[in-house]
Parts: sequence; structure tokens; C-alpha cells
Amino acid sequence: MYIHIEDLEKSYTSGSVKTKVLKGINLQLARAEIGVILGPSGSGKSTLLNIIGGIDRCDTGKAIVDGDEITNLNDKELTEYRREHIGFIFQFYHLIPNLNVKENIEVVANISRVPLKIDDVLHAVQLEDKKHRFPRELSGGEQQRVSIARALVKKPKLLLCDEITGALDYATSREILKFLQQINKDYQTTILMSTHNTALRAMANRVYKLRSGEIIQETINDAAVPAERIEW
Ligand code: ADP
Repeated sequence: MYIHIEDLEKSYTSGSVKTKVLKGINLQLARAEIGVILGPSGSGKSTLLNIIGGIDRCDTGKAIVDGDEITNLNDKELTEYRREHIGFIFQFYHLIPNLNVKENIEVVANISRVPLKIDDVLHAVQLEDKKHRFPRELSGGEQQRVSIARALVKKPKLLLCDEITGALDYATSREILKFLQQINKDYQTTILMSTHNTALRAMANRVYKLRSGEIIQETINDAAVPAERIEW
């Protein structure tokens, strides 16, 4: 399996209170598949994605991505793993406000070993004509497309998407999801995304239902549908 997670546990301590946020997660995702982690706010989705993306560490358990046991990496190796292999997209875009669209993407391209051409990723998210605009001159959907392009330019082997349609309206959300599916198809990028929107399960190859830090159901979907056919 491309992603193999075994008995993953994670607690946070604030003050004297320790809260177990992930309680023994097991999860599998094959290469070039789309996985959806479905769960309400606070169920542990971001924590799980952050551990898989090398942003955070677990307490116990195993996370293997493309044969690398990332739970065994030291800080330097983990930074390298994140920089080389992981594209991250967040709910609130995290663009650099005083750089234009092209420059926001260049920042990542410049530190990538084999970046894609900026014009190609701009084309993939249909923003060629807006490459000189600043984030504040773009709609929410366009800003999210820039952040997809930025994640994509380093040709990540794994794209992690944390509630990326959470701040977008219905039509724009569907458009963003359509772009993701297209990227998955064109570049064979494995995608793992979190959402609280149950409708998104239809576009996934695998769905993991998360509740209070536990996967209560894993479903394999043999007939994933195009995002434009999803309704909610
Ligand atoms: P979700 O993404 O499903 O909304 P999170 O993974 O963000 O869930 O959070 C799961 C739980 O962990 C929540 O109760 C949250 O308050 C807690 N949590 C997340 N990050 C931290 C942190 N850095 N310190 C303390 N508690 C945290």
C-alpha cells in the first residue's frame, strides 16, 4: 500500500489535561487513489493529515508512505520528506500577500528539485491570465486554485488537502474538487483529503469515517464519480 498507517496514537496536553486525539488509527491508501477522511470538526482529521505530511509527530504507531517509515525519521529527514514529496493545501490558502500569483508559485518551485513549469501549473488551474495579480485581487476560489498550483509545482507524490472547500461556496467548491480529480488523473498524484461534507465520499476511492479520533468505518468505493456530479 502507498500509505500504510498502523495503530497511530496522538495526545495533546494543555495545562494538566491530556487529550487523546488519535486513538489507534489504521488506514491504507493505494498509489494514485483519492482517499477522503470524513468526520466532524474536532474528530482529529487535521492532526492525522499533519502526521502523514510530516508537520506533526505521533506518540506511538507507524506511518509508512511509499515505503518510507516516516515515523522513524529525524527532524532533518522529516523536513526533507515534507519538502520533496508532500503538497499541502489548507482551508485558508496561506498565500503570501505581497507576492503575485506567479511569485507565490515560484517560491515553492525555487526550492524543488524537479519542479513543473510554472506556466503548466497555471494552465492546470486555469489562472494564466491572472498570474500578475495579488491574492487580495482574487476570489476565494481563485486563491485556492493558486494554493493548488503552488502545491502541485513541486510534483508531489502525495497531495494532502485539509478541508479545502470549507471556506468556499457550492459552485466554487465543486470546481476546486474537479481540479483535484483532474490532477489525480493527469499526474497520478495520490490525494488524501479531509472534510466534514459527506457528499464528497462519492468522488473518493476510499472513505474513512473518523469520529473522536477513531476510524469507525472504512469503505472502498469501486465507482467514484466525477466531482461535477456530486450534490449537497
Ligand atoms: P479536525 O481537523 O477534525 O477538526 P483536529 O485534528 O484539528 O480535528 O483536532 C482534534 C482535537 O485535537 C481537537 O479537540 C483539538 O482541540 C485538539 N487539538 C488539535 N491541535 C491541538 C494542539 N496543538 N494542542 C492541543 N489540542 C489540540
